[in-house]
Amino acid sequence: MVEEGKEILQRKMRHAKLNFNDEELNKMQKFFELKSSQELFLKFQNGDLDIGDIKKYTEGKGIFSNIMQRFRKSPTKNVAFSETPETNLDMIVFGKDEQSMTYSYAKCCTVIPGDKIFGFITISEGIKVHNDNCPNAINLRAQYDYRVLPAKWVNEESFKNRIKIEIEGLDRMGMINDITAVISNNMNMDMKSMSIESNNGVFLGNINLEVRNRIQLDETFKQLKNINGVSRVKRM
Ligand SMILES: [Zn+2]
Repeated sequence: MVEEGKEILQRKMRHAKLNFNDEELNKMQKFFELKSSQELFLKFQNGDLDIGDIKKYTEGKGIFSNIMQRFRKSPTKNVAFSETPETNLDMIVFGKDEQSMTYSYAKCCTVIPGDKIFGFITISEGIKVHNDNCPNAINLRAQYDYRVLPAKWVNEESFKNRIKIEIEGLDRMGMINDITAVISNNMNMDMKSMSIESNNGVFLGNINLEVRNRIQLDETFKQLKNINGVSRVKRM
């Protein structure tokens, strides 16, 4: 039955001018949210999936390559994309051939140069950049593999992004001063806000920082952890 399904699919894919190869089958399997190519073959054998579904698949592929085209920056058409002011141009490139594209940052996570990142093609808002550690990353990759783009940092010098950190430790005299000293003096970073809670001798601080890159953040973490009484520092 699997073999029969395979032949049916092969024939239908040929009609739809799709190549019958592992890559295409893999994409199709993910598109229909199936666990294996066996399952895909069976669905074509028993009629659960048909030529109409192949059409949906090719249209889906078409939509995303269209979106890709639309957000790809060509030197002559730059002006057309300048209406998205919050976008940082050319700090990140996408795809195997490192294309410049118009993008914005996803709201579910934060990224700074040095973080592993990826692009995700959304239908209404173009390309969104996510952190590999984003809580949604696993789901996006598993379900919408064909919409995930490899992404890479370039020109990171002019980058600044707001990062939230949580710091916990002993509530002692001078603790806040020591923290501020590390951030403002040693690391010369902009502290955008800080809130402190204190409970039974334990303090918990939430700090918003403007960070340039991962190296700067890692060094800040190291220095904060070295402060007498600090027990934990965490990026949120
Ligand atoms: Zn995210």
